[in-house]
Amino acid sequence: MSDDRQVLLDALKFHGHRCWASVAGVRAGLAALRDLGVQRSGGRQLHAFVEIGEDHGGICFGDGVQYATGCTLGKGNIEVLDEGLAQATFSAGGRVLTISLKDEVRLKKVLDNSARARSFYYDALKGMDLEYIPSEANFVLIRVGNKAEEITRKLFDRKVLVRFMGSYGFPDCIRISFGTPAENRRCIEELKKLI
Ligand SMILES: [Zn+2]
Repeated sequence: MSDDRQVLLDALKFHGHRCWASVAGVRAGLAALRDLGVQRSGGRQLHAFVEIGEDHGGICFGDGVQYATGCTLGKGNIEVLDEGLAQATFSAGGRVLTISLKDEVRLKKVLDNSARARSFYYDALKGMDLEYIPSEANFVLIRVGNKAEEITRKLFDRKVLVRFMGSYGFPDCIRISFGTPAENRRCIEELKKLI
């Protein structure tokens, strides 16, 4: 078995489950070691900045990078930026290298995020006894009754952006576009106060 494969298997054991994002993190980390010509770090010659976003995939990506490179929170040679898509920047010996996911992986990540947002909203709306119109789209259409326009305005005042669907022929509906998990949670929290 190649060393890389062994690192990958060990990383998955460390991570606790097998997922695409931790594998991507391991691959990014191994590629960085090779390109920058450094060893898996027991010291601080290598420094990593990982943009993980706040969803599951991003955090898994960060685990993969940590395991593969040996840059760990404990050693203080990894910094985690809570934004962006899974992407990592490495520095060693005055050189800097950024490794991003390929477009198709990014696309998968976006789709995964939509699927999670969709089930989050559907569950929350069921709990609130609100009717919604299921779709594969990147938003959810919710029947909130004759206060739809007012609710849209009040949400706007609370800096939550939804669209009143009156001009689309749904005067009792609002449309919520999927955001980050935090944005989705906040949107439901604010909506609960108005229903
Ligand atoms: Zn994972």
